[in-house]
Amino acid sequence: MNVDLLVVGSGFFGLTIAERCANELGLRVLVLERRDHIGGNAYSERDPETGIEVHRYGAHLFHTSNTRVWEYVNRFTEFTGYQHRVYTCHEGQVYPMPINLGTINQFFDAAYSPDEARALIKEQSAELGEKEPENFVEKGVSLIGRPLYEAFIAHYTAKQWQTDPEKLSADIISRLPVRYTYDNRYFNDTYEGLPVDGYTAWLERMADHPNIEVRLETNFFDVADEFKGQVPIVYTGPVDEYFGNSEGELSWRTLDFEREVLATGDFQGTPVMNYPDPDVSFTRIHEFRHFHPEREYPSDRTVIMREYSRFAEKGDEPYYPVNTAEDREKLLKYRQLAEQEPNVLFGGRLGTYKYLDMHMAIGSALSMFDNKLRPHFESGADLHSGGVDE
Ligand code: FAD
Ligand code: UDP
Repeated sequence: MNVDLLVVGSGFFGLTIAERCANELGLRVLVLERRDHIGGNAYSERDPETGIEVHRYGAHLFHTSNTRVWEYVNRFTEFTGYQHRVYTCHEGQVYPMPINLGTINQFFDAAYSPDEARALIKEQSAELGEKEPENFVEKGVSLIGRPLYEAFIAHYTAKQWQTDPEKLSADIISRLPVRYTYDNRYFNDTYEGLPVDGYTAWLERMADHPNIEVRLETNFFDVADEFKGQVPIVYTGPVDEYFGNSEGELSWRTLDFEREVLATGDFQGTPVMNYPDPDVSFTRIHEFRHFHPEREYPSDRTVIMREYSRFAEKGDEPYYPVNTAEDREKLLKYRQLAEQEPNVLFGGRLGTYKYLDMHMAIGSALSMFDNKLRPHFESGADLHSGGVDE
């Protein structure tokens, strides 16, 4: 076999591994991908009718504070100066999101200073007393008070998670900043932008090396016997599937995207509009032209995508780990199995059952390369030694 390493999955995790191993170690890498395109969920394509770049698996915004990751990704693409901003449409009015002084003043029809707004929210979150917030609802109310929580968070979250928010982890709401300034940027990271010529061009450049072969429409499980035990494997597919669901299936949330081309040059004036009210069944609408205001797109047509969220069933794309207590129990068992699986490393969001942003998937792959793959290929270290790769 003229392959030194098999990578299962061509998302950011798998391609970072393939690129590093080919460029740094001169290894011959075969990447298997079961879809008919490269790139995992970050894949994007030109809408055939309008030429507008559409992110097929949901809008992807690149942001990071990790300088190593930023320098690494800049080898493959330049970035635009795009800064993500989101608005939310509640009871017929549009507010800035995440919640900031602008949202608070508009909602309470006031002109509070930062200190006045802080005092108001403190009063409105007093219902918790001295209690440490233990779940999503308590954390949400503690951060923004009950009225804002009910308007912007409660129903949106119910639609997105279909789970009683009391049973959701407080971490989920902690991802959203709350600001007592008029700064309405969505992310706090040092570096942010979108790839100038699109995600797919970036992903293809990562794989563009004479030692890397990407085989599309190839499911690892159909050819596993050829490779298992023959060559080291980095597996970025679902960890439960690898082990034949022996410990039970891990639960995921999936999304349904409804794409439409409309006969207008601008549908909503902004890339993402959230819909936090219970009478609207989707959670948000993306309008892709606004991700690239620097491009020349048609002035009479636009592409929008409505996003709906639900539990994944068999055959659905797994998008977000639900991560219930039962899931965590199963995951522990899968982790033990993974640790014992000879010559196979598990990585990426599916392989570790973790929500990973792109910069996290890339950062985690760089660590796996440094801590496990390089020592293995350079000095014969056991693949499973070498510390944590997350
Ligand atoms: P993936 O991209 O999922 O790649 C895994 C690949 O493995 C897939 O192509 C899959 O087909 C393949 N595969 C699986 N099993 C097999 C098999 N048996 N044989 C062959 N191939 C297989 N991140 C951000 O930083 N910013 C964002 O704005 C953002 N938005 C997101 C929005 C949505 C809706 C979602 C779901 C994710 C978003 N992300 C975002 C996260 C981003 O998608 C991930 O960080 C990235 O996809 C992780 O890369 P990965 O390689 O781990 O996984
Ligand atoms: N959220 C909300 N209302 C909003 C935006 C977010 O209630 O308008 C909540 C929701 O529970 C979501 C979480 O905040 O899951 C984190 O938001 P983020 O935008 O990071 O979610 P993602 O796009 O990753 O699903």
